[in-house]
Amino acid sequence: MPDGFPADATPPGTVGPVDASQVPRFAGPATFARLPRIDEVPNADIAVVGVPFDSGVSYRPGARFGPSHVRQASRLLRPYNPALEIEPFAVQQVVDAGDIACNPFDIASAITEVEAGAKALMASGPKLLTLGGDHTIALPLLRAMAERHGPVAVLHFDAHLDTWDTYFGSPYTHGTPFRRASEEGLIDLHHSMHVGIRGPLYSTSDLPDTERLGFATLTCAEVELQGLSAAVDRMRARLGDAPIYVSVDIDVLDPAHAPGTGTPEAGGLTSRELLTMLRALADLDVVSADIVEVSPAYDHAELTGIAASHVAYELLSVMAHQRRSTHVR
Ligand code: MN
Ligand code: MN
Repeated sequence: MPDGFPADATPPGTVGPVDASQVPRFAGPATFARLPRIDEVPNADIAVVGVPFDSGVSYRPGARFGPSHVRQASRLLRPYNPALEIEPFAVQQVVDAGDIACNPFDIASAITEVEAGAKALMASGPKLLTLGGDHTIALPLLRAMAERHGPVAVLHFDAHLDTWDTYFGSPYTHGTPFRRASEEGLIDLHHSMHVGIRGPLYSTSDLPDTERLGFATLTCAEVELQGLSAAVDRMRARLGDAPIYVSVDIDVLDPAHAPGTGTPEAGGLTSRELLTMLRALADLDVVSADIVEVSPAYDHAELTGIAASHVAYELLSVMAHQRRSTHVR
């Protein structure tokens, strides 16, 4: 820890956030949740890493500024999560691993760099919680996951399917990562699911295509009409006991809850619904996750950044829950 930034009391072996009773939350470096940097502690169980890349977007740009915005909005996160009765920064060592530098002018290069950066971080063992960046980055992240775990169940929260084929003839964009991942054999075709789908599609073939590529679909309308607990049951039934990679496009939230994003769609989930659905993963095998498409230039009053930081916090809590269940420290 830097001088003058005492940690909260945590069990031996973990360094928690800067103590907010000693240093105001608005002071000091903006690491995620004011956690230590990866070079400040001897080991990491989870690395929070930024990927400031948005050259794959089809509409509003700006998600390259997402990682720094989510870090800034995460200053208010506190050490204890009462909903899951866990201290996510005490049960496991969470660190901020900075950003993966990637080429803003060449999407293929950037994809290679993200894959290499993710694999380098994972080499010493930690899970990743990646802050995007646009959704293009899910493809190289899934390549890294598949190398470690084999094909993973992708739990994909998004207004959009992101299993389209090409845009302007380009196969690597923020609307195509899960088709490429399916084609490359990176995903578990029997346990993957889209949640929060809504809005107009390009064609009547979009939904049959996405099913063929391995995804069940749970729409926002179904969440509304069947209720949240029925939706959670469907989600858990689909996931089973597979290793799960969670990919959260912040546009799964209604624009009222997350205006700062690239391709907003009306009629989305509330932040409350999304956080509840994430907590339902607590006893499942979440191997890593990302939160993408936060574009701060379109944000107001940090709504989107705060929502994204709380999504990250719930995902870290879910991973902590799993760790507490399977490890004695
Ligand atoms: Mn989307
Ligand atoms: Mn997306």
